[in-house]
Amino acid sequence: MKFNRILLKLSGESLAGSQGQGIDPGRLASYASQIREAVALGVQVGIVVGGGNIFRGVAGAAKGFDRVTGDQMGMLATVINSLALRSALEDAGQPARVLTAIGMFPIGEPYSNRRAIETLEEGAVAIMSCGTGSPYFTTDTGSALRAIEIQADAMLKGTRVDGVYTADPEKDPQAVKFDRISYDEVMARGLKVMDLTATALCRENSMPIRVFDMDTPGNLLKLLRGEPVGTEVY
Ligand code: UDP
Repeated sequence: MKFNRILLKLSGESLAGSQGQGIDPGRLASYASQIREAVALGVQVGIVVGGGNIFRGVAGAAKGFDRVTGDQMGMLATVINSLALRSALEDAGQPARVLTAIGMFPIGEPYSNRRAIETLEEGAVAIMSCGTGSPYFTTDTGSALRAIEIQADAMLKGTRVDGVYTADPEKDPQAVKFDRISYDEVMARGLKVMDLTATALCRENSMPIRVFDMDTPGNLLKLLRGEPVGTEVY
């Protein structure tokens, strides 16, 4: 597959690095330099960042917040991460813009698919924050949606694991990795690649997903050059 435009999903937890929470500046810098290399290769990069390192709506509901409020707090967490990522990209010499699905100018500009595409065509990274902008969704669904809206060639999901396995490889040593797997099989096997809403949205719109280990520097570039990195969900 030739990648001209991608949507990269980074989970909030991955930004936390080994600390498990908050934002790890080293991890952020490593991501930023890999993303800059991708843009230098001529690939347009849109990004959706999660917020789980700061706040998750479900966890908030367990603490007594109503779910909508908790999810709004979670969406704000994605904005915090997006600002941190923009700053790291700028430090790495890569222009980037934060677009927010919920109006909060001047922290970010209001998101529209046209504004995102314009940003990408200028050679800047478009960081699309607040997920879908609605409660009861996740940033995985937000990234599936944005990937489709900006007509990306694929949605790349950067994780700690190097692809999709028959079971969680961090828990089950017998787990076997798939090189390719269909959306239907992901759903039938109940594999936790992404939540069902996100997987279904990609399936309905034929948006390929590539799950890969973003924490190994150089992997993103390898993938974009066509090397067999991670697992393709088709
Ligand atoms: N969220 C939401 N709507 C969205 C995306 C996210 O309400 O479209 C909220 C939700 O509470 C979620 C939190 O933001 O728990 C953080 O996002 P997510 O859990 O997807 O982050 P990640 O797991 O990728 O770090």
